[in-house]
Amino acid sequence: MEPIYLTIALDTPLDRLFDYRWLPEDGCPLPEIGQIALVPFGRQEIAGLIVGISQQTEVPADKIKTVLAVRHQCPSLSPQWIDLCRFAADYYQRPLGEVAIPALPKNLRVPKATSLDRNLKKLAKLQLAHEHDATPNQEPILNAEQQAAVETIASTAGFASYLLYGVTGSGKTEVYLQTAARVLASDSQAQILILVPEINLTPQLEGNIRQRFSGIQIATLHSGMAEGERLLHWLAAHTGEARIVLGTRLAILSSLPHLKMIVIDEEHDPSYKQQEGLRYSARDLAVWRAHQLAIPVVLGSATPSLETWQHAKAGRYRKLELRQRAVQSAVLPVVKIVNTEREKPSEGLTQRLVTAIRLRLEKGEQSLLFLNRRGYAPVIHCDACGWISNCTRCTAHLVMHKLDKKLRCHHCGLEQRIPRNCPTCGNVDLQPLGRGTQRLEEGLKTLFPEARVFRIDADSTRLKGSAEAAFDTVHRGEVDILIGTQMVAKGHDFKNLTLVAALNPDSALFSQDFRASERLFAQLMQVAGRAGRAGQKEGGNLSEVLIQTRYPDHPLYHALMAHEYPRFADDLLEERQQAAMPPFIYQALLRAEARELETAIAFLQMASQCEPVQAHVGITMNDPIPMTMVRVHNVERAQLLVESNSRPALQAFLKDWIAELRSMKVRVKWGVEIDPVDI
Ligand code: ADP
Ligand code: ZN
Ligand code: ZN
Repeated sequence: MEPIYLTIALDTPLDRLFDYRWLPEDGCPLPEIGQIALVPFGRQEIAGLIVGISQQTEVPADKIKTVLAVRHQCPSLSPQWIDLCRFAADYYQRPLGEVAIPALPKNLRVPKATSLDRNLKKLAKLQLAHEHDATPNQEPILNAEQQAAVETIASTAGFASYLLYGVTGSGKTEVYLQTAARVLASDSQAQILILVPEINLTPQLEGNIRQRFSGIQIATLHSGMAEGERLLHWLAAHTGEARIVLGTRLAILSSLPHLKMIVIDEEHDPSYKQQEGLRYSARDLAVWRAHQLAIPVVLGSATPSLETWQHAKAGRYRKLELRQRAVQSAVLPVVKIVNTEREKPSEGLTQRLVTAIRLRLEKGEQSLLFLNRRGYAPVIHCDACGWISNCTRCTAHLVMHKLDKKLRCHHCGLEQRIPRNCPTCGNVDLQPLGRGTQRLEEGLKTLFPEARVFRIDADSTRLKGSAEAAFDTVHRGEVDILIGTQMVAKGHDFKNLTLVAALNPDSALFSQDFRASERLFAQLMQVAGRAGRAGQKEGGNLSEVLIQTRYPDHPLYHALMAHEYPRFADDLLEERQQAAMPPFIYQALLRAEARELETAIAFLQMASQCEPVQAHVGITMNDPIPMTMVRVHNVERAQLLVESNSRPALQAFLKDWIAELRSMKVRVKWGVEIDPVDI
């Protein structure tokens, strides 16, 4: 038999595929496209994806290397899956292997995949879910709007992109679940992919799904899983055993041979954008994937991203609206503005807020204080000489963490003991400036010694599983006053919460990032939406939201008071259109890092003038600028923004441009991001 040549995608920055020779062995089946092969690469043995099989190769016979093994145990990845990776690679300007290989579980990629056989056997016994102890829960009767949404989505033939736009507590989850039930019932193999921003923060949803679909295999995929576990769940999805896959953004690249519907909960959430490596948008890939497979995709939110909102306005996405809260007596909370210029806060709390909390305590109701800043104080300083605690490696302050007596940089992780006296003048009276969640907690405990005060932030939930436990504590009613960062804003259905306060949201109003106000609005709307979800209790307080601000007249807060997302979004869109900003134009960002800022800027300067820039039309090059936070961990960073009002023009330019940049020998680390969200 003649040798066979396999074309293989490998996880290397080299923008090409690699040919290897495959030698038949007795009893060994022929390799197939979509299988994983182990090959020698340099001095390593690495796993790659077979994307082509041929009788010829252009690699000379004395240069070609031989495949070490083919993973026959693992069923082949489908042509559709390879096409999805190919699209992502093309769109985000990366080699195919850099997209496809990292999307596979590590245990499939390591040379000795000993656990693979074991896992495949385990899979056959279906041990993924704790289905056995789950008692199926009752489906509530849908209201008319929910019913209409379910009908529309479930009866979709072919591709359709839906925006499920519903106020907080309007029962979007119920729409996902009942639509899913319909899709699963209509096709005995159908698989459904549900993406959420963070699984650990939404254990309720996972619990609900497991209860509702007892007897059905459910796989979960997120970054916090151990490798063995991840392989098991990935295989369950890949073999079609798991009918529902619940995951975070990385799950969008999982293999789902019978995928029939995709749901993206809280579609506006920034966590759908990967911020390192392949900087993809899971939301955008989901829409592409749905289109490829001719299936529906549902994007749910109370505050859709402006991109999605614009698609809906233009009729590319179909808007399904839920105008009311689902629970009968639950109305949206009243949003009130507290002007902190007039009512000076003490310990971060205005008198009005203190009174409001007291009313909750009297009725045994819960309050939530939202402060998006962890630690005790964002900085400490010396009154005598003006010294402040700066990080020596970053353009950032060291944050005071009083509990562990540390100063800590939230960007590079640098840690120091809190100095007893000023490092420059010796003054012993160093003062914390500003307020983080720890300091707020301390103040509240003094003010309300009888109350059970509880803090949830990245520091209090560092241990695995502790976030879940913390939320359980709140749900069990063992907390009177909950303090939290954005972690507490997401998706929780707190039943006894009637007061939400946002303590210091103003800084985002004046951010350089043009998306900051869109994000702030979404965040405040979400956190406000935690109040009053279970409905008005007899004799209880009305649910309310207090925003403590120095800018009581800001339009953002007024839109929030009126629960008027559409007007707010329309106004922002108009501004964006006039200023020629996304979603009306398309952007890419070239980032450069070097020891010295000048080196990075010089590289970007050169890049902005190189040959492809001259050759392409319709491309706008901005000036290279230092990033807002110039230095992180002793590396200086700069960026160059490229814009175009044609996506294809931008794509064509980037292809040539990146090829040119790759061919240059430079001492900077650089990378291109398509559709950047942090500029
Ligand atoms: P959203 O995701 O839109 O914020 P949820 O799906 O969490 O809202 O629903 C809010 C609450 O309303 C939940 O407690 C849910 O069980 C309840 N709910 C949803 N739909 C209905 C319905 N049709 N009848 C009664 N309660 C419902
Ligand atoms: Zn000093
Ligand atoms: Zn630092």
